[in-house]
Amino acid sequence: MVDKHIIVVGAGPGGLTSAMLLASRGFKVTVFEKAGDVGGRNAAIRLGNFKFDTGPTFLMMKFTLDDVFAASGLRADDYFETRRLEPMYRLCFDDGETYAWDEVAKLRAEIAKKFPGQETGYDRFVAREPGRFQKVYATLARDYTSPLSMLNGALLRAVPHLAIGRSLMDVIGTYFGPEKLKLSFTFGAKYLGMSPWECPGGYMIIPYVEREFGIYHVIGGLCEISAGMAKAVRRLGGDIRLNTPVKRLIVDGKTVKGVELASGEQVYADEVIVNADFAYAMSHLVEDGRLRKYSPQKLARKRYSCSTFMLYLGLDKLYDMPHHSIVFAGDYRKNVDDIFHNFRLSEDTSLYVQNPSITDPTLAPPGKSAVYVLVPVSNTSGSIDWAKEKDAFKERVLDTIERRTEMKDVRKHIEQIKVITPADWEKEYNVYNGATFNLAHNLMQMLYLRPHNRFEELEHCYIVGGGTHPGSGLPTIYVSGQIAASMICAKYGVPEIPVTKAPVPVPAPLSR
Ligand SMILES: Cc1cc2nc3c(=O)[nH]c(=O)nc-3n(C[C@H](O)[C@H](O)[C@H](O)COP(=O)(O)OP(=O)(O)OC[C@H]3O[C@@H](n4cnc5c(N)ncnc54)[C@H](O)[C@@H]3O)c2cc1C
Repeated sequence: MVDKHIIVVGAGPGGLTSAMLLASRGFKVTVFEKAGDVGGRNAAIRLGNFKFDTGPTFLMMKFTLDDVFAASGLRADDYFETRRLEPMYRLCFDDGETYAWDEVAKLRAEIAKKFPGQETGYDRFVAREPGRFQKVYATLARDYTSPLSMLNGALLRAVPHLAIGRSLMDVIGTYFGPEKLKLSFTFGAKYLGMSPWECPGGYMIIPYVEREFGIYHVIGGLCEISAGMAKAVRRLGGDIRLNTPVKRLIVDGKTVKGVELASGEQVYADEVIVNADFAYAMSHLVEDGRLRKYSPQKLARKRYSCSTFMLYLGLDKLYDMPHHSIVFAGDYRKNVDDIFHNFRLSEDTSLYVQNPSITDPTLAPPGKSAVYVLVPVSNTSGSIDWAKEKDAFKERVLDTIERRTEMKDVRKHIEQIKVITPADWEKEYNVYNGATFNLAHNLMQMLYLRPHNRFEELEHCYIVGGGTHPGSGLPTIYVSGQIAASMICAKYGVPEIPVTKAPVPVPAPLSR
């Protein structure tokens, strides 16, 4: 046992990662979570006998999660069961559909069939992108707490792969011509809550990692990952206190001493790790005037991701429809401009429909299904009045589902329904601006320029989760937890925690 007490504010994926790792190294760990369950945006939603994931439904780069368990002396497989999805997902356009396979031969055949002649572009993608991934990932999976950290060799080697000044759409254009094929490879900018026309080209690693390492579902939903991590924290001796909101960090000068709970109780610790949404936490949990770089005024001027409008539908029927379907608006560019620039709701909107009961019978009673719908929309920094728009927009989304998917009569089959709007993300989930994917991932908000895992403005304070380095998305959030835990171990002379390294890609992918 290390005689040091670590407080973690929030039991989201980032907080649970560092809690697990530090508890496994013998630290006394206490996690305070405001909600009645662990997981945050990765928690379960239960409606009657139906169960849904609140947020994440695509588990990518599973090796990062496996590493968190392994570094804690545990096996992820003992805590939840995963299924690699094949095909990974379906892409629905107004004039047809195509499937994304992670098996190279299958995807090549699909491209040759739907976009004849473009398969040679895919051959180039397969040959070129493993190199980019190795270099770019190596720059992400490390700590950027000092300006000198920007001089690391990994970053210098990655520079030619970062496609600086070029967007994801620019880079994919070096492989493919048809717009719809380009969108099939770049819509994943949505995972960062960004437009593919603005997302930095270095994020070409997203379509690559999906295809190289696959997309996984977790039986019982991805929320089972957080539930499994919480079980692990407790097994390793950590304490998780649910329904315990933190009101503020106790700060003396620039030193964080502990936290004050909403109940008024004050709890002191050697280090405090903040996992609550970064911009929310710095503007609500730290008293005004303490911060300069991340003062409320400066936070308001940062760039943020889009938000999401969510529907969770408990249906009395199971539709024969793929696990994941991405439905593109007829005019996708206009829809993206509405989200990111015009701050208005599109008449014709894109959406993502998850039909996980087709893979996983645990989410709904027999013959029924739990359906999850995510619609990317503007964050709350615009002037959309969700109290006014919510019901009409819900109907528009249901119309789109009936028109564009197999769920032609979905309205007739709804037994349970829950809606989350951007305003709800902000008020109920403490998400700044309702920006579900946190601070945007433009170059000015990345690496050293993103909030540091050892927080630069306060001593004894670390930050983990999607709003900090390396960024939003489960794998990078797990890495943020590893980096913070690793620095705390180093500080107290405890055996350090390895930050996940990139697996070496398969050398001859075409022969897989
Ligand atoms: C709709 C949606 C879909 C997504 N899809 C994917 C996907 O498919 N794949 C993927 O990899 N990623 C996805 N993400 C992104 C990301 O993986 C998740 O948002 C993830 O849950 C973020 O983890 P986090 O560690 O940043 O913390 P959060 O999940 O935000 O957790 C923070 C925790 O802090 C708690 N908290 C807040 N304030 C306080 C307080 N004052 N006191 C105590 N506790 C507090 C919250 O209750 C919460 O439990 C998605 C996100 C959303 C919203």
